[in-house]
Amino acid sequence: MMEKPEELKLLDEKGYRIDGRKKYELRKIDMKIGVLKNANGSAYVEWGKNKILAAVYGPREIHPKHLQRSDRAILRVRYNMAPFSVEERKKPGPDRRSVEISKVIRGALEPALILELFPRTSIDVFIEVLQADAGTRVAGIVAASLALADAGIPMKDLVSACAAGKIEDELVLDLNKEEDNYGSADVPVAIMPIKNDITLLQMDGYLTKEEFLEAVKLAIKGAKAVYQKQREALKEKYLNIISEEE
Ligand code: ADP
Repeated sequence: MMEKPEELKLLDEKGYRIDGRKKYELRKIDMKIGVLKNANGSAYVEWGKNKILAAVYGPREIHPKHLQRSDRAILRVRYNMAPFSVEERKKPGPDRRSVEISKVIRGALEPALILELFPRTSIDVFIEVLQADAGTRVAGIVAASLALADAGIPMKDLVSACAAGKIEDELVLDLNKEEDNYGSADVPVAIMPIKNDITLLQMDGYLTKEEFLEAVKLAIKGAKAVYQKQREALKEKYLNIISEEE
């Protein structure tokens, strides 16, 4: 988060945001499932200007072998940003931020999986950010969750996610890049709606305790709307398979 230039207004007099959204409106989201031939499961998500691909491999034999667990599968997650995903070329390869995001995404997905069903194996999730515009960790979770379902990996629920934040002294849903840069807080949340469980909760910036609780509520509402879209995308995939078979 950066100091906001005096002349930049993130909300106009009528309460509209710079991309024309209202305070509690999500960016446009498109989801496609099963987009890669050589992965066990995959999904492509466009969320505002974010473009994110998720691929799942496994359950499969683990390399290196010493990571093997005799009682369950291990889940590995790699979040990676392409060098061309941001305005200034990003140096390729892992950095502190991507290592941290990989770890929190793993934590957000793991409670949904029934890893005991696949002892001695690994389930590997790759999240590739092709274009980034704030909210890539939540979009990555949404894409990864669809890819895990596409891979046929038994799950207790789909994991959904969304962020809320604060701009110009107001709480808003789903920050874009300018809002993330010049706003004062960002609260990404991931949920398993059926279980009524929160699997990721982070905060960047400054909020009062009351604002924080409001922001969490708002992000959960957003994630529930995204969850419905995930379910529709999965349904659409299976309806297509059925109609192709007819
Ligand atoms: P998230 O993408 O989950 O919101 P951050 O808050 O760390 O995670 O990042 C916010 C946004 O900042 C990213 O979505 C991306 O648009 C931008 N960003 C992150 N890392 C870089 C980088 N190395 N160079 C340029 N922009 C970046």
